[in-house]
Amino acid sequence: MKKIVIIGSGFGGLASAALLAKTGFKVAVYEKNSLPGGRAMYFQEGDYKFDMGPSWYMMPEVFEKYFSQFDRKPSDFYQLSRLNPTYRAFHSDGYHDISADYDKLSHLFDQLQPNSSRNLNKLIKLAELLYKQSMHRFIYKDFTSIWDFMDLKFGFEFITKRLFVSYDKLIKSNIHHPLLQKLLLWHTVFLGGTPKNVPALYVLMIYVDIILGTYYPRGGMFEVVKAFKKLGEEWGVEYNFNSEVDEISIQNGKAVGVVVDGQFHQADIILANADYHHVEKNLIPQDYRSYSDQYWSKRQMSPATYLLFLGLNCKLNKLLHHNYYFSDQWDKHFSCIIDKPSWPPDYSFYISCRSKSDPSVAPEGGENLMILIPVAPGLEDSEQIREKYRKQLIVKLEKLTGTNISDCIEVMKISTHRDQIAQHHAFQGNSFGLANTLWQTGSFRPGNQSNKVENLFFVGTNTIPGIGMPLSVISAQVISDKIKKIYGSEITGN
Ligand SMILES: Cc1cc2nc3c(=O)[nH]c(=O)nc-3n(C[C@H](O)[C@H](O)[C@H](O)COP(=O)(O)OP(=O)(O)OC[C@H]3O[C@@H](n4cnc5c(N)ncnc54)[C@H](O)[C@@H]3O)c2cc1C
Repeated sequence: MKKIVIIGSGFGGLASAALLAKTGFKVAVYEKNSLPGGRAMYFQEGDYKFDMGPSWYMMPEVFEKYFSQFDRKPSDFYQLSRLNPTYRAFHSDGYHDISADYDKLSHLFDQLQPNSSRNLNKLIKLAELLYKQSMHRFIYKDFTSIWDFMDLKFGFEFITKRLFVSYDKLIKSNIHHPLLQKLLLWHTVFLGGTPKNVPALYVLMIYVDIILGTYYPRGGMFEVVKAFKKLGEEWGVEYNFNSEVDEISIQNGKAVGVVVDGQFHQADIILANADYHHVEKNLIPQDYRSYSDQYWSKRQMSPATYLLFLGLNCKLNKLLHHNYYFSDQWDKHFSCIIDKPSWPPDYSFYISCRSKSDPSVAPEGGENLMILIPVAPGLEDSEQIREKYRKQLIVKLEKLTGTNISDCIEVMKISTHRDQIAQHHAFQGNSFGLANTLWQTGSFRPGNQSNKVENLFFVGTNTIPGIGMPLSVISAQVISDKIKKIYGSEITGN
């Protein structure tokens, strides 16, 4: 039986493992951490259970499609509910709840900017068209050359609808109220970019958010990780945790196995889910790298995140499950992420308070918070900086909620660049992967097959199609189909 070694157990690694095992390969996963999930890590202190990464479960159809190949449904493993309101948007003058009910949302738009719901409708229609076309034609496609982009109908729309202009420009030419603009622009962080460096093409994200909706898996995102792992187990995948791959052994241009703790493990095919840059730079000899140091130095990585986890023994009445604070210094904050990478003096931030819809994640009467500030990758990450932002966030949170939080803190943990590097070897400590900018989309992303080692493949957030949990699952689908196509006839050959 042909043996595949998968390096890393993020969503891309876990989703590929089950698919490839079902195809008939013998699959072994080596993961450096003690738990699966990669960036979707988890930690527990006392009765506080924290998801350390993704908190927005979007594009549910991707997960349904994935599980259906096994004649299973997500609900066989975890229970989803749609969040309504989707989130609370705080700003300097108060807050607005962003309803999952489209009529209510349209009403809010008209209230803040008369007749703006007409333009919202127009944007949603464009977003719907782009989303459906992308899902149908592009996202599940194995981009190997720029010609894969050449779809006449889409090319026509790309030009006539000016989808190459910035996302920022498209939204601002349709909506003028500053808060409404922010409600439609923050999605670019999910793409690892900023409103100005992500193309209008990705306006499809507002269809994903506003129409398709945001869901919550009961128990948290780690339940989804456990589901993928369990599915793999059912198909005989072998998982090895606390097993860091130190080297991919290559002989005559072919990968022959991996070295873990000084021990060699044979493989016929290697699929790397670990950070692409780390794999190329540290696990294979220089002659076999597809991309040079110069290539990586010119890539736009997604923002890193300053994360503050708090377990509180008091209730915060003013928060919902998802909350955003949109700063008046919106542009300056993004400029500190892209133009002049530096710690922002003022900033927007996101607060996840899962205990609002899931009592199992905090003790009774308590709250479970993750506060996230998007910041530039590659920044200095010192104890002084961590402390400075911790103090600022507590003050801001106390002001937003009107509660003396300092007195109720039972658990506190900070995670930023250094931790992302230590936990996942994330290049420059980035959080989401390689940004989905125009020139880092489709065939412009690092390929899912090595140019120099024919049986070395890549899956996950840094290759096609891009950033986020659903796209990492799609990445697994694309690469598993490719491996099956190349090696399918030899599966039982060894
Ligand atoms: C704070 C944060 C918030 C996010 N929010 C969202 C959200 O709300 N919604 C959403 O959809 N996405 C979100 N994302 C992005 C999402 O988590 C990622 O895009 C996705 O999980 C990446 O999956 P992946 O398959 O690329 O693998 P990764 O998660 O990158 O996992 C790779 C794995 O490889 C392992 N590894 C690395 N080197 C080695 C080695 N040498 N040997 C063995 N193992 C190794 C790592 O330990 C890791 O487990 C968020 C990410 C973060 C960090």
